Amino acid sequence: DQFGIKKSLEILGIKAENLGSSTGNTWIETKEESIASYSPADGSLIAKVQVGNQESYEAIISQASIAFEKWRSVPAPQRGEIVREIGNALREVKSDLGKLVSYEMGKSYQEGLGEVQEMIDICDFAVGLSRQLYGLTMHSERPGHRMYEQWHPLGIVGIISAFNFPVAVWSWNAALAWVCGDVCLWKPSEKAPLSGIACQKIAAKVFEKHGMPEGICSLIIGDYKVGELMSHDSRIPLVSATGSTRMGKLVGQAVGGRLGRSLLELGGNNAIIITENADMDMAIRGALFGAVGTAGQRCTSTRRLIIHSKVYEEVKTRLANAYSKLVIGNPLDEKNHVGPVIDQDAVIMYLEAISKVKSSGGKAVVEGGVLEGEGFESGCYVKPAIYEAENHFEIVQHETFAPILYLLKYNTIEEAIAIQNGVPQGLSSAIMTLNMREAEAFLSVAGSDCGIANVNIGTSGAEIGGAFGGEKETGGGRESGSDAWKAYMRRQTNTINYSSNLPLAQGIKFDI
Ligand code: NAD
Repeated sequence: DQFGIKKSLEILGIKAENLGSSTGNTWIETKEESIASYSPADGSLIAKVQVGNQESYEAIISQASIAFEKWRSVPAPQRGEIVREIGNALREVKSDLGKLVSYEMGKSYQEGLGEVQEMIDICDFAVGLSRQLYGLTMHSERPGHRMYEQWHPLGIVGIISAFNFPVAVWSWNAALAWVCGDVCLWKPSEKAPLSGIACQKIAAKVFEKHGMPEGICSLIIGDYKVGELMSHDSRIPLVSATGSTRMGKLVGQAVGGRLGRSLLELGGNNAIIITENADMDMAIRGALFGAVGTAGQRCTSTRRLIIHSKVYEEVKTRLANAYSKLVIGNPLDEKNHVGPVIDQDAVIMYLEAISKVKSSGGKAVVEGGVLEGEGFESGCYVKPAIYEAENHFEIVQHETFAPILYLLKYNTIEEAIAIQNGVPQGLSSAIMTLNMREAEAFLSVAGSDCGIANVNIGTSGAEIGGAFGGEKETGGGRESGSDAWKAYMRRQTNTINYSSNLPLAQGIKFDI
């Protein structure tokens, strides 16, 4: 145990066998089978978690409904104080939780720490927000009348999250939902259940310390079947779901079918345009981290480079050179740049994508492959790869959640923007240029169609202060900063008449 995993698990309260249904500090036994969580870093079994079922789900929902009635009446700034303490509790275990995220999911330890930092940041953001859940006031057209709007909490917010940000996505949703007065039920990815259990223990302790009832933070471990219980349940007014477009379409339909609200954060197919006016050192660094960071498993990972024909060969050569220096290995060892992908299924998807790009006529710049031998026993380590391709290839139109980068060539900025927009997804995009006209064209109404558009920054690594999310098949949801909190509340318009008449709006006369 050279990286001190055992100690961190102990500090986080993870045992060999864990229950997976919780209303806070109460954990419910279900007699269902357990999910075994294996580390993609070294293939070892970390621990097991018992799956939730219909009964544990019902127990959680009924306790959450009771808790909502109390929590919604706690003044928002006091709710913010509790979220502040959750942020402080996260600060105390930052290295242990970062390590667990790294070990269970496979991202580098630095990125694991970054993910926990993101949780701390969103808690701080939510604390400030708890005094700023502003509504507008309007001028009434009627004398002696006042109009304003206020924002009220929704109730139970269901959070379904993906494996690749096993803890941060929960906090983006939960920290905001809590200050808004909602209670949360989280279903983490079945591929990273222990990270979920660790977070649940941290938050639940803080609520208990403040004498809050069980049910404000609930957790249920399970696969899509538990997710389906949530998306069909009209007791959950908002389902926030992060994951593949395939999943988002199913959840969106189920929630829409009952006219509930969904907040969807789905797949991306993110590109960087590298123009002839780019700072080339910056462009290469931005592309490199975007494409290979988290082994290509960020929703904002760079999947396509759209390169001006004049600098195409230079970019290709410099990238191939940079890729040759990448060190692949255990993500907890800080000398390695690239860790494993999540599991064997991800390796199969990676290999299939490579064979598809080749059969469409793509050419290898840096050839892919699965790594074998000492240190790679888990079978989840793959080589970051680069292929020359064309935007219309079916596989290029698709999000492959692995470190595969496609190089595409262009001649005019209009053409580059058309290629950037010419995919079904619309999450993150970037342009590398020192030319003001190119940068502004990219950001203009006729520019990028994505939820995120950056200049001289890569596609990945968003800050929590902005609203995060994307258009088209990315699902349209926005989370985290700016006014994303409004998704977690219902707006009420109030008109108050303090005159002694009852005039009707629009001057309508109705006298008897
Ligand atoms: P996934 O779609 O396989 O699973 C995501 C979650 O949805 C899991 O918790 C899973 O159990 C649940 N789920 C699956 N089918 C369901 C159904 N029918 N009903 C309800 N729940 C269901 O995704 P993944 O492999 O864990 O994650 C990778 C994907 O997530 C990528 O496409 C990535 O781009 C996307 N992602 C998007 C964002 C974003 O903010 N836009 C962030 C992170 C990841």
